[in-house]
Amino acid sequence: HKLTTHLVKQYDVIAIEDLKTKNFQKNHHLAKSIANASWRIFRQMLEYKCEWYGKKLIAVDPKNTSRICSKCGYNSGAKPLEIREWTCSKCQTKHDRDINAAVNILHKGSTKLNGQGLAMVTS
Ligand SMILES: [Zn+2]
Repeated sequence: HKLTTHLVKQYDVIAIEDLKTKNFQKNHHLAKSIANASWRIFRQMLEYKCEWYGKKLIAVDPKNTSRICSKCGYNSGAKPLEIREWTCSKCQTKHDRDINAAVNILHKGSTKLNGQGLAMVTS
C-alpha cells in the first residue's frame, strides 16, 4: 500500500508490463503463485489509486523488454535470470538488467501515450 501510494502521488504516468498471471490456485509452485498473486494485487492497487489521483497507468506488452538494448535498440536475445548485468554487443553500453528493462517499458509506455495524442514522457 505504501509503495503504490508513493508511486501514484510521485508520478503522473506509470508504465508497467502487462504480465499474464495465471490463476494461482492452478499453480502448484508456491513461490511462483505468491509472486503472481502479489503482482496482481500490486497492479490492482496502482489501477484504482491512479484513478483516484487522476494519474495514468499504462500496461505495455512485455515482449523483448529484457532483450533489447535501451540505448541502441539492438535485440541480443534472451538472457538467463541470473545475468544481472550485461553489455550490448552492438553499442557496448553496460546495462543493469532491471534498469534497462524499466527504460524499455517506459519507452513503450510513452509510445502508447503519444499514440493517444498526449504529451511526450521523458525519463
Ligand atoms: Zn546497444
